[in-house]
Amino acid sequence: MLTGGCLCGAIRYQTDGAPFHESICHCSLCRRSSGAPFVAWFSVPRASATLTSGAPAWFHSSIYGERGFCAQCGTSLFFRSADLPDEIDITTASLDDPGLLPPRDQLYTATRIQWIEDALVLPSFPAART
Ligand SMILES: [Zn+2]
Ligand SMILES: [Zn+2]
Repeated sequence: MLTGGCLCGAIRYQTDGAPFHESICHCSLCRRSSGAPFVAWFSVPRASATLTSGAPAWFHSSIYGERGFCAQCGTSLFFRSADLPDEIDITTASLDDPGLLPPRDQLYTATRIQWIEDALVLPSFPAART
């Protein structure tokens, strides 16, 4: 069972579905909707994902796609597409243990921010900058 939720705790979800398409997405819509350089996602059968607390707000980010997020704290949680009615995408970083689902590929690298390639070699601090 995979469990997760938003920053404020209003929305909690769980899924016992087998995850697939573990990916990092560099598309401009993921970037804008999250405010982050890229977003990690995984997919599960839509019927396997259930809300255990709260309910997301939905925003149509394209003709087919809708993004579910917490209206209280803004956490990006879900993506569903009219093209793929039997599956739902969940943001990997909203999992209680994101380490369980490492990404297997990267999408939309044509629009990847160039400086991401250098991020891992920047000066690093274990917590806040000292
Ligand atoms: Zn929230
Ligand atoms: Zn994307």
